Amino acid sequence: MTGRGHRLVTFMAVGGTTGSPLAAVFSLMGAALPDTLERFFPRRTRNRYHRKFTHWFVPWLLLALFCFYRAQWNLPSVAVLMGGGEGALWSCVAFWLMGALMHILEDACCGKVPLLNPMRRSFGVHLFHMSSEMGEMSAGEMAFSLVVVLLSLAAWVKQGIML
Ligand SMILES: [Zn+2]
Repeated sequence: MTGRGHRLVTFMAVGGTTGSPLAAVFSLMGAALPDTLERFFPRRTRNRYHRKFTHWFVPWLLLALFCFYRAQWNLPSVAVLMGGGEGALWSCVAFWLMGALMHILEDACCGKVPLLNPMRRSFGVHLFHMSSEMGEMSAGEMAFSLVVVLLSLAAWVKQGIML
C-alpha cells in the first residue's frame, strides 16, 4: 500500500474505533513506520528484506501493549496531556505504535507479511493490486481506502467527533 493510503486509512479507522482524535493523529504519525525503517537499510539489501522483519507484528504489538499498560489502558486526551499526565503520554506512544500495526494489517490486505517467522512473508490476502508506479494509488487501493474511510466516517459521526 502507498504511504498516502496507509495514513488515510489508519487515521480514519483509528479515529472511528476509538472516538479519540488524538489517538487518530498519533496513529497517523506511525502509519508509515515499518516502511520508513526500511529506508535505513543499505540499498542493495532493501529488496531482500522488504516487508520482512520490519513488518512482523510481534515486536510492535509487545511495545504497544507495554505502552497501553503504562497508560493504564486509557485513551489519550488533550486535557490530560495538557495537565502533564504521564499516562496520556504513554497512550500517545501506544497509538503511534498502533499506527505501525495498522500498516502491517493494511499491507496484509494487498500482499503477504510475516506471521510466525519474521523472515518469511506468509500471511495476507490480495484484496486489491498495487499500482506498478511507485507511490501511485491503484484503482483497487482507492476503492479499498474509500470503503474504509466511509465506514470510519460513519463511526466518527456516531461518536460525535464531528458534531
Ligand atoms: Zn509496508
